[in-house]
Amino acid sequence: MNKSKKLTIMALTCLLMSVAISAVVSAQDDEWEDVAPWAFWGFAGLMCFLPIIWIIIAILIAIWVYRDAEKRGSSGALWLIIVIFTGIIGLIIWLVVRPSIGGKPAASSSDRRCPNCGRVIPMDARACPYCSKKFEE
Ligand SMILES: [Zn+2]
Repeated sequence: MNKSKKLTIMALTCLLMSVAISAVVSAQDDEWEDVAPWAFWGFAGLMCFLPIIWIIIAILIAIWVYRDAEKRGSSGALWLIIVIFTGIIGLIIWLVVRPSIGGKPAASSSDRRCPNCGRVIPMDARACPYCSKKFEE
């Protein structure tokens, strides 16, 4: 949260500087007076601004994938790194290979499953916490 705030301030400073510079340049009454400086500084401002926007988006995607991976029993840290390095491609790969919620995690043979809804339940449960079916044992 704090990091993205800093990035936003950086981006705004960058944009304001390029606007100020282009205003100064265009105010000078010489051969640079025509459209060229505006185009140049506008372009420079954009080039400064776009990567910052892109970094913010990449961070948000990485955080989302991290949380989604942890929720689904995969290694969140591993996917965080993959998405940081590959960006949107990593996100697409994750969306293709991710396990469904409640599927893969903790599916060991020692788990007890509810005969009614099939979800993993505590070994000593007398009723299913999900579908509240009672067991007589
Ligand atoms: Zn159940």
